[in-house]
Amino acid sequence: MRLRHKPYAIDKLNDNPNIVISNPQAYRGVWKDVFRNEQPIHIEIGTGRGRFIYGMAKANPHINYIGIEKFSSVIVDVLDKQLEEELPNLKLINKDAKDLTLFFADGEVDRVYLNFSDPWPKTRHEKRRLTYHSFLQNYEQVLVKGGEIHFKTDNQGLFEYSLCSISAYGMLLKYISLDLHNSEFEGNVMTEYEEKFSQKGNRIYRLEAKFQN
Ligand code: SAM
Repeated sequence: MRLRHKPYAIDKLNDNPNIVISNPQAYRGVWKDVFRNEQPIHIEIGTGRGRFIYGMAKANPHINYIGIEKFSSVIVDVLDKQLEEELPNLKLINKDAKDLTLFFADGEVDRVYLNFSDPWPKTRHEKRRLTYHSFLQNYEQVLVKGGEIHFKTDNQGLFEYSLCSISAYGMLLKYISLDLHNSEFEGNVMTEYEEKFSQKGNRIYRLEAKFQN
């Protein structure tokens, strides 16, 4: 992602504590209190500028969404969308998802979305890929039993790696598309990267995988 530094971002995020949860550890186990309802919780890791999470929250008011993004200069754009039209079922966390298990109690999350995650193509950076074994362990811990990961990317290498990593972990692959935009999949909500790369002619890959324990 091309990052334009926005010096105002951190202050703006801090000024909107109802939307941007600055201390997610404090809500570990009680996220339902934040939303003031019992709806399922879906999270997106690496939300970027938030087109997907905002679109999903708008289309599915019966689900609560949390977008997690480590860069303030990026997530501030999601905040701007929320300030224009605030969706009560969308909250944001400006933190690194490596600490996911500090933010959510075991079984507190109903689904994890990963969209156009950074590919980290060098083997020595494998551990940074969001479908690496240790990330899968964290997802399994915070997800309900039988919880799912839904993953989209245009990066063939990362997709192949993720299929292997997810299978080796013992997850059940429920759905695989090697060309999402020419498939029968309905209700796709595009991300910023998805629009950009599909316009360039790149194929979009998508999978749904379920933890079996
Ligand atoms: N999902 C968006 C999309 O599809 O348009 C953004 C994709 S961009 C390539 C990947 C984003 O994930 C970046 O904004 C990056 O900062 C974020 N990211 C990568 N690793 C992360 C992590 N461990 N925790 C939180 N955000 C992360």
